[in-house]
Amino acid sequence: MRGVVFLGERQLELREFPDPTPGPGEVVVAMKASGMCGSDLHPYRAAGNAAQALGLGGSGGPVIGGHEPCGVVAAVGPGVSESDAKVGQRVMVHHYWGCGQCKHCRVGWSQLCKKGIVVYGMTGHGGHAPFMKVPVRTLVPMPEQISFEEGAAISCGTGTAYGALKRLDVSGRDTLAVFGQGPVGLSATQLGTAMGARVIAVDIAAERRNLAKEFGAETVIDPRAVDPVAALREMTHGEGVEAAIDCTGNPEARVAAVRSACTWGRVCFVGEGNTTTFDISQDMIRKQLTIVASWTFSAVGQEECARFIAERRIPLSKLLTHRFKLEEATAAYRLFDTQTTGKGVFVF
Ligand SMILES: [Zn+2]
Ligand SMILES: [Zn+2]
Repeated sequence: MRGVVFLGERQLELREFPDPTPGPGEVVVAMKASGMCGSDLHPYRAAGNAAQALGLGGSGGPVIGGHEPCGVVAAVGPGVSESDAKVGQRVMVHHYWGCGQCKHCRVGWSQLCKKGIVVYGMTGHGGHAPFMKVPVRTLVPMPEQISFEEGAAISCGTGTAYGALKRLDVSGRDTLAVFGQGPVGLSATQLGTAMGARVIAVDIAAERRNLAKEFGAETVIDPRAVDPVAALREMTHGEGVEAAIDCTGNPEARVAAVRSACTWGRVCFVGEGNTTTFDISQDMIRKQLTIVASWTFSAVGQEECARFIAERRIPLSKLLTHRFKLEEATAAYRLFDTQTTGKGVFVF
């Protein structure tokens, strides 16, 4: 089979790999959809080893990219029972694997394992190929109403937004500012609205602001046209927003998220990379601010996110604006790198 390998410096290639066969406790998933996530742009753009730069470890050897895998079980290895996985079963993959035994792994947070982790698509073979081999315990069940493309989105970008909104404990009492309307920010807008919050979406791109309005944002802000902190204060009687989330990783946006929060407000950082400087006294201590960080979600959280979307009939499919064949990977990532669209997904 052929899989997408990120070479860095905005180059990728479709490289030949042997078809995987499952070992003990493993399954092979036949891919139906494999999403493109903002963090794929790190290995795509990187000059060096992006996985190491993100603190994810790995040998730096070539791996198949893609960490939003969704498909059907194609083969099961020795020791995998019928109740673990059946051939033909529709599944998402929690795209991390750890020791499987520590306190983090046992509750589904394998990415927090201290014994070394595999991040599929970054340090282990991911979903940008027709087949993917994973431990059966990485599989996450999918509600019937969730399509493979939606399942792929939930497997990182949308699930990450859900996890961050939970960390922020967002409710209908909140005005929520979402900085950045890429695939994670747009999901935060859509899910935050479904959780009852009044959502104000911030993005420099008109196309993404328009999508944000479609996804339920009450108001949108172009931070290049107006000062977002002043605008958000004005919309909240001078108080600031109860909750803010940064999905950009951009230092200016992070500072704006912190400054736009009200006294006793909550802020969550999701966008990765960079360093950011705050005035701790003025921006945080004087406001009794709570700042949290959120790294994706647990395997259990991923299932919960899918159920939330299915039960509330949230039209997540609208997020998926671009569909590609794997052979179009070069053009697909070039578009993702330069354009401000919704979300792209490879379909099989
Ligand atoms: Zn562990
Ligand atoms: Zn991701």
